[in-house]
Amino acid sequence: MISAKEHEQVIDQTFRDSVATINQKGKRNFLFPKKPKGALYNKRTLASVIYLLVFFTLPWIKVNGEPFIMLNVLKRKFILFGQIFGPQDFFIFALGMITFIVFIILFTVVFGRVFCGWACPQTIFMEMVFRKIEYWMDGDFHKQQQLNAMPWNAFKIRKRLSKIIVFWLISFVIANYFMAYLISMDEVLRYVDDGISAHAGTFSALLIFTSVFFFVYYWFREQVCIVVCPYGRLQGVLLDKNSIVVAYDYVRGEPRGKVKSNDPETKGDCIDCKACVRVCPTGIDIRNGTQLECINCTACIDACDEIMDSLDRPRNLIRYASENNIAKKEKLKITTRIKAYTAVLLLIVSALVAMLATRDSVDITILRTQGMIYQQLPGGYTGNLYSARMFNKTHRDILVDLSIPAEEGSIEIIGKQPLIEKENYAVITFLVKRKNENITQRKSNLTIEIRAEGKKIATQKTTFIGPIHS
Ligand code: SF4
Ligand code: SF4
Repeated sequence: MISAKEHEQVIDQTFRDSVATINQKGKRNFLFPKKPKGALYNKRTLASVIYLLVFFTLPWIKVNGEPFIMLNVLKRKFILFGQIFGPQDFFIFALGMITFIVFIILFTVVFGRVFCGWACPQTIFMEMVFRKIEYWMDGDFHKQQQLNAMPWNAFKIRKRLSKIIVFWLISFVIANYFMAYLISMDEVLRYVDDGISAHAGTFSALLIFTSVFFFVYYWFREQVCIVVCPYGRLQGVLLDKNSIVVAYDYVRGEPRGKVKSNDPETKGDCIDCKACVRVCPTGIDIRNGTQLECINCTACIDACDEIMDSLDRPRNLIRYASENNIAKKEKLKITTRIKAYTAVLLLIVSALVAMLATRDSVDITILRTQGMIYQQLPGGYTGNLYSARMFNKTHRDILVDLSIPAEEGSIEIIGKQPLIEKENYAVITFLVKRKNENITQRKSNLTIEIRAEGKKIATQKTTFIGPIHS
């Protein structure tokens, strides 16, 4: 039996001096991981199929003729689950983002990087789409290594060219769907109908997206997780000894080494076959402990289980486990940190739900017209001129009506009764008239009720100013 401290002393610490994907000369060390196989890989494949089905289906779904999901950053129009959100919903967005971040933190504290292995789009597309195609086209790791090492000839050119074309075409499809999430599938199809020359700018953006995806999946690959992704870099501060990660059971595995018939008892269960290292898409050795590069893809678990099966030893030498589970055989503990994060998360989610539930269908900002104070009107009245900027968040046109309690005065809309087109803005100018004898303060509060189709849809508070006559 070996402790965590002893394990650290036993393992060769030189792995800390280098990055698996950078060679001695400082150049990129391109990885050729062995094709994974096993129970977890099959489960991840199934999860990825469902994930990809959802990804490629969502842009085709419509609610009331509008996309189910659309994130049009340029037009500042967002549709989530059929609900329209605009710049006025900034607070809901901000709270939604905070909820998402707290959820990620809480989830990471408990389950480590499970998200990376099972739900991150980068891992899904890299490992479950492009890598699978690569194995299909170029064969398993040793064939890929041979191809890479061989001098350029007709065979290698044909292989490389066909892979570039296939990767580029898939990147082009993904870029189109990415575009559909931004501007809606209807718009993408309309652009296709109109032709490239009619939308040269959008087509250039599409080619840029395609090139970025191609670059990432053809060449950059695991570097996204190691160098670019901020989530990976946060692991050091989020994980603790209770977090569940893909971990090597050093208590059971060490001292590692080949089994010799004369001393089977002196060795641990790890036979140092390096099968777990060969399958790793980020090139690390999980036996060195949790590392920033580990995306929890579970390939090493499957690889080691296969070795254990062949040796007739129990599986799970590498498994989902916490440091405390391995060192002290402890089960998952609900720590104070987890409780505190959960409380904060519940609080934010409640606020978010309340904001969504009380959200008006029309967003209104009422301001007294700039540069004007008040007007003395014939018949003993004082008037204040206002303008209301309204945004219709629904999928239908709305005819609005403004009113104030009769004892407070009346409203005269300048022009015809305002119609706000669906998902659009309208600016309405109106005059509030008050009898002079009713004005008792220079500045008084005024509540304006906004109605549509006979129903109250919102109320807005503003102020009325006028001379005191009494
Ligand atoms: S696959 Fe298992 S037995 Fe082989 S080196 Fe890795 S941990 Fe040890
Ligand atoms: S160490 Fe294991 S789980 Fe982590 S990236 Fe490598 S193969 Fe995947």
